Amino acid sequence: MSETTIAAIATGNSAAGIGVIRISGTDAIKIAQKVFIAADGTPLSDLKGYTAKFGNVYSGEKKFDNAVALIFKAPKSYTGEDVVEISVHGGIFIVEKTLEEVFKAGAVPAQAGEFTKRAFLNGKMDLTQAESVAALISAQGDEAVSASFNMLQGSLSNKINSVLDQLIGCSASMAAWVDYPDEEIPDLSEESLAEILENAEFLLSDLIKNYENGIIMTQGIDTAIVGRPNAGKSTLMNMLAGREKSIVTHIEGTTRDIVEESVRLGTMVLHLSDTAGIRKSNDIVESIGIQKAIKKIESASLILAVFDNSQPLCNDDLMIIENCKNKPSVAVINKNDLENKLDTHEIETKFSKTVYISAKNNIGLSALEKTVKELLGISKFDSSQPILANQRQKLCVLNALEHIKQALDGLHIGITYDAINVMIDSAVDELLSLTGKKATEEVVNNIFSRFCVGK
Ligand code: GDP
Repeated sequence: MSETTIAAIATGNSAAGIGVIRISGTDAIKIAQKVFIAADGTPLSDLKGYTAKFGNVYSGEKKFDNAVALIFKAPKSYTGEDVVEISVHGGIFIVEKTLEEVFKAGAVPAQAGEFTKRAFLNGKMDLTQAESVAALISAQGDEAVSASFNMLQGSLSNKINSVLDQLIGCSASMAAWVDYPDEEIPDLSEESLAEILENAEFLLSDLIKNYENGIIMTQGIDTAIVGRPNAGKSTLMNMLAGREKSIVTHIEGTTRDIVEESVRLGTMVLHLSDTAGIRKSNDIVESIGIQKAIKKIESASLILAVFDNSQPLCNDDLMIIENCKNKPSVAVINKNDLENKLDTHEIETKFSKTVYISAKNNIGLSALEKTVKELLGISKFDSSQPILANQRQKLCVLNALEHIKQALDGLHIGITYDAINVMIDSAVDELLSLTGKKATEEVVNNIFSRFCVGK
């Protein structure tokens, strides 16, 4: 339990109906009492946990807003400490003034993520759950919310802990067997050891296999919209964004640079870049935009290559087809409402996926969603299954997997149990650092420093 009592604004930094100041620590209630007085005069210290009281907030003798105080008593709170949340009217000034008063009453400013860090240190959640809090806050789509929330509920921790239980069980009987060879210790047969290791290998490999898909679904897809001028790239971007963002005109070459926007496509989030129309150009500014568009094709995780159904295939289209070769790209044949003059057969043979839309008329969104999911192999993504949420988690699992594979190889070639046990212990260490039971202070600090203040 930490010595200091911390406070921060828990709500966003903009005017709103209410704003919440959260206080956590041994003196939370004592400090809140100096700022908040209940309308019926009941001291906050007389209240049970999970109680709300209406009253006012004060600066000295002067009350400056109506407020509600919500009391949580340790250990039944988010942080595991005494917590008071004071809700005031959500003007930026009022919220900041209330926080100032809370500091004057003895609280210290919370560091980024310090409430969640305390929750972790007080055993309210493990590291994967703490990381899911940050993921949940930044989630932009249904799949991201669902995957992060499942992790917060412990889906990944449960899977890892089940592997850990088995490995630690093995390790304990092997250690006993090595240390006390003359004792009657129940045998751990080679078959059951192999079975446990293979099961761990299977579960951890499964997590690694789904890592990329999980990242795509939870963090969004870096997407480039490319096509020759006037194909309808900006109109497509606007259709996806649901409002005007790119400049749509019938004069060729109006999107001179890259316009960026994050949009939802069904359950996915696309981080879109609407690039300059790709064509041969003598205009220096336009040429720079075109070079950027071609670079974007190189780096994007998804390319939407837009073609104009009402125009015959031209050299600029061929240049785009060439640049999209062997890239994760979908041919988007736009202006499908107009008479077909495009050689769509030629395009269909060059792209693994083609979809027909009319961006101007808002037609083809669900076909586009289905096609993108098929292309990226995420049609069957199941956000109710545990996934790894970041590089740190992936690295721990990869390392654990490596040790388990070594142990299995060792078992097959008949090396001694004590050598195998060292490998199993190394795998256990990796998994314990994943869940945080053995994470270094540096790792823990690094994780929470990326949180927002107030969380
Ligand atoms: P960009 O240069 O590729 O970004 O093309 P724009 O999005 O600016 O569109 C060029 C022109 O095509 C505009 O006049 C759009 O209104 C028009 N346009 C875009 N999509 C469609 C469509 O689906 N059908 C029709 N008929 N016109 C479209």
